[in-house]
Amino acid sequence: MPRTFRNTLGGTFVVLACLAAFSAAAGARPVYLDDRHPGDDARSILWEPKQAAFEKLQAALALPPTAARDTQDDFDVHYYDIDIEIDEGPETVAGSVVMRATSTIEGLSTVILDLYDNMTVDSVAHDGAPASYTHSSDLVTVTLNSAVNTGGDLEIEIVYHGAPVDDALNFSTHDGTPIISSLSEPIGARQWWPCKDTPADKADSARIALTVDDAYIAVSNGMLISEVDNGATKTYTWFESYPITTYLISVAITNYSSWTDYYTYGRDIMPIENYVYPEHYSNAVEDLNITAEAIGALAEVFGEYPFIDERYGHAIFPWGGAMEHQTCTSYGRVLIRGDHYYDWILVHELGHQWWGDWVTCETWDDIWLNEGFASYSEALWFEHVGGESEYDDYVESYDAYGYFDGPIYDPWSTFNRTVYDKGALVLHMLRRIVELDGGPQDHYPVDGLVAVMADYGAAHSYGTAVTADLQTVFEAHYGSGMDWFFQPWIYGENRPDYRWSWLASDQGPPYGVMVHVEQVQSNAGLFTMPIDIKIHTTAGDLLVVAWNDQLSQDFFFDVDAAVTDVSFDPGNWILKYVTEISTGAQEDVAPGALSLSAPAGVIGGDVRLVFSVPTTGHVELAVFDIAGRRVTTLTDGVAPSGTHEVVWNGSGSDGAPIASGVYFARLVADSGTASRKLLLVR
Ligand SMILES: [Zn+2]
Repeated sequence: MPRTFRNTLGGTFVVLACLAAFSAAAGARPVYLDDRHPGDDARSILWEPKQAAFEKLQAALALPPTAARDTQDDFDVHYYDIDIEIDEGPETVAGSVVMRATSTIEGLSTVILDLYDNMTVDSVAHDGAPASYTHSSDLVTVTLNSAVNTGGDLEIEIVYHGAPVDDALNFSTHDGTPIISSLSEPIGARQWWPCKDTPADKADSARIALTVDDAYIAVSNGMLISEVDNGATKTYTWFESYPITTYLISVAITNYSSWTDYYTYGRDIMPIENYVYPEHYSNAVEDLNITAEAIGALAEVFGEYPFIDERYGHAIFPWGGAMEHQTCTSYGRVLIRGDHYYDWILVHELGHQWWGDWVTCETWDDIWLNEGFASYSEALWFEHVGGESEYDDYVESYDAYGYFDGPIYDPWSTFNRTVYDKGALVLHMLRRIVELDGGPQDHYPVDGLVAVMADYGAAHSYGTAVTADLQTVFEAHYGSGMDWFFQPWIYGENRPDYRWSWLASDQGPPYGVMVHVEQVQSNAGLFTMPIDIKIHTTAGDLLVVAWNDQLSQDFFFDVDAAVTDVSFDPGNWILKYVTEISTGAQEDVAPGALSLSAPAGVIGGDVRLVFSVPTTGHVELAVFDIAGRRVTTLTDGVAPSGTHEVVWNGSGSDGAPIASGVYFARLVADSGTASRKLLLVR
């Protein structure tokens, strides 16, 4: 018989690299890593507290008119000086905030800042002189004493006091002691201090002076520059010398116990300062002792820790989850157990120091640039400590629920599973895609992603980014446009649902292999993806790549040894549903009672089908395509017992020749059924 397999050209696949065995997992398994992948409801601890707070906040917030908010674009903030006394007794805040900014328009005459109406403004000054203002709709509208032109500087001071509501500044207790802490993301800063409350405008630096009961330590961002004893109170003054956005400015105040670890880089060291509740000090020392190693591990992928001239650390607070406050993550009390159970959350928040704090999502629609990246940091950590198999297991855990709801961009809720976990899986996929030029392999190096993240970070260092900015950087490394990826995966919803089958010739070499791929999802359009295919042969395994850009597509490969099996995306690089159609296709339901034979995978012109039935009775022999649609019926009537032959000319029921592909001949007789796979190649 003639060989009818062929190689198709024109970019449908990239061939063919011989594969070494899977590389062994790196190093010994750390004692603190014994399959503690969240994988279930546990991951929701990352977003549910934020989501609940945000929903409460949205319900309470009288959203200001768009026009008023737009005028905030008229000035660019440089600096905040927050000087407040926080009193746990009446749960109040009192003090002043100075904002320095530059006008971005000619004749700027009005400056609008965000501050909840329940807070009382005592006075406002512009450039040191009293200025008139109004305070309503959660906005402080300041009339400048004189207009400021483009590039001109202005300073606004607001003196205020009040009892904050809605928990962005939270008053609680631990072990009978007050704990005051903040979590302002996304728009809660305005609950307790006046500011231009948007992630799009970072101050270049900020000073945070906190006056508190002298029994407590007040922790904030950056470096502690002074600690002044006022008698009954103490004033802790912190200075963040790196750019910072409003939602990342934080306070954490209680009777902390603290200690300092060090992260070593080059020939230098950076302090890691941890502030924990005294009652779980020893457990905290245990749980937080991975921090230096984790900084190093993430720095290998993301570049050096972005606030290296200052510090990193943790301050315990009463929330269920954690919050990536710049240079000092607020870490939930419940996460301290002394057993490293929540290492993945520690790493998540650490990852935010790069993605969220160093490069901040410019709008809340782009929140996945923070959360997807931080979530992906978790897998990178497990790869660091446990090698490729740990990475693979961890990636699987992102999809523990098996579905994602809505798009990643502009999600239905700012903090939800799709943003975090599908966001992480998108980066997992992109890691593989930027390695396309490196040829197929079982486990892709992280080098390509490292290069992309370096450029993305450099382009938006200490600034903000939107999703299109990330796409631009990926496209520069990929070498051409990537709408085919970003549109369905970031802006679209759901995932591909693959049906696939394979067939190999039994003669060679070369042996031909055909892989048929269909996408059958009804809740999304086409996903164009490179799909890794592993061809197992008697001489070893080969990895090939099928560039799948049609809903129904066949791929043809030649190999040098007989094929024993074929695997579809064996490295699990694609978020997908997948079903192998060929399973059971050769099955006879009533074995021995009847038979159907068909040529084994080599079909040029007519197809000769032979069947036998043990008894006289009704017989139907029909051909179906791989999706189960009937192509043609060859026999439908009473057949006597014995052997019969039917020749199919490769036409459908309408008499027209059918397309090349995989089909099934199916025999249904009184005594049972039998199916055979047919490959038709023209
Ligand atoms: Zn996060």
